[in-house]
Amino acid sequence: MTPIKPSDCVNRLPAYAVAEIARRKQELIRAGVDVIDLGAGDPDLPPPDVAVEAVTKALRNPANSRYAFQTGSRRLRESIANYMTRRFDVTVDPTQEVLPLIGSKEGLAHIAIALLNRGDVCVVPEPGYPAYLGGATMAGADIEVVPLRAEDGFLVELEKLPQTRLERTRLAFLNYPNNPTGAVASIDYLQRTIEICHRHGIVLAYDNPYVEMTFDGYRAPSILEIDGARDVAVEFHSFSKTFCMTGWRLGWAVGNSMALKALSKVKSYVDTGAFLAIQEAGASVLDRVEELAEPNRAAMLERRDALVGALLSVGQASDTPKAGMYLWLSLPHGVESSRFASELLEAEGLAVLPGSAFGAAGEGFVRLSFIVGPARLREAAVRFGRVLNA
Ligand code: PLP
Repeated sequence: MTPIKPSDCVNRLPAYAVAEIARRKQELIRAGVDVIDLGAGDPDLPPPDVAVEAVTKALRNPANSRYAFQTGSRRLRESIANYMTRRFDVTVDPTQEVLPLIGSKEGLAHIAIALLNRGDVCVVPEPGYPAYLGGATMAGADIEVVPLRAEDGFLVELEKLPQTRLERTRLAFLNYPNNPTGAVASIDYLQRTIEICHRHGIVLAYDNPYVEMTFDGYRAPSILEIDGARDVAVEFHSFSKTFCMTGWRLGWAVGNSMALKALSKVKSYVDTGAFLAIQEAGASVLDRVEELAEPNRAAMLERRDALVGALLSVGQASDTPKAGMYLWLSLPHGVESSRFASELLEAEGLAVLPGSAFGAAGEGFVRLSFIVGPARLREAAVRFGRVLNA
């Protein structure tokens, strides 16, 4: 028999780190280890009651058991458009400039397939959310990995790319507030970036799931607040972090209508829309985001401060991020991140993500998520210290 094998494209995709760690974590739990998991960005807080009530009611309506298709729920699109106006003073057409997604991840991966031809250059920041690299790889793009460096504020400076690469760039991913570094982008930087995208015909895929998870008075913008952004940008939003609804799989894309039409066409061959009952729940929470996001933000702030303080007391300094749910910790010189993370897991039952899971530029760092309460985070810091100082 001729052996069957995966495609070259699948072989080019690196293993998905979060999935690997989840597998090992389960083995340790089965063996009786008290695991603290700070790996995935998956908070332990419950979803809002408003969402649970809305989905329960929606389940009773048989119309919601039908296919949603790409048009989805009119109510959700309008609720998204209203949010964009209320929150960012951005007016969007709910039919042409809004597209519900089955979690922002699927949209981020599919946009590359929607917009790139084989060999087009796609800018992928590193470290970065793996769906950017995954989508661009599946699209057969020529990937321009741009390392995010502390000395540049973890910003991607498109104008620093070689001219020949910039000319062939059709899509660039950016994510601020940034996972994993915690960096944020100034309006000046965003204006500069939009200008470059205009000049070179680049679509900017602006990944913004942490826009509501901000601290210390910092307010994160939408890319669509920037003049001219609508001509070149698509912004990705998520219900996962703001409302602690990671498993519900709901997000949306908003912005350039040509790009959204292309993305919608790809999706029409891949999925048949998010479950309508969940779209109803999404509309219900988004209509009350100002009130519902606040307790989650307050909880994350308390966790951030607990973890930063506890790590400092075991000798691990860190920046205090203005947004997001992560600490991006620089390891002592020469310490390999995957070895360190695996020692933490095996010796102390503490799961973190090695920086190398985000690509070579993440080497020398580990990422810790604020996804458990302050007491567990303090315990995590003690375990971290034991490995750091061994
Ligand atoms: N983008 C970034 C930067 C993320 O950190 C995540 C989740 O961790 C996502 C996108 C995906 O979110 P969703 O649950 O909406 O697919």
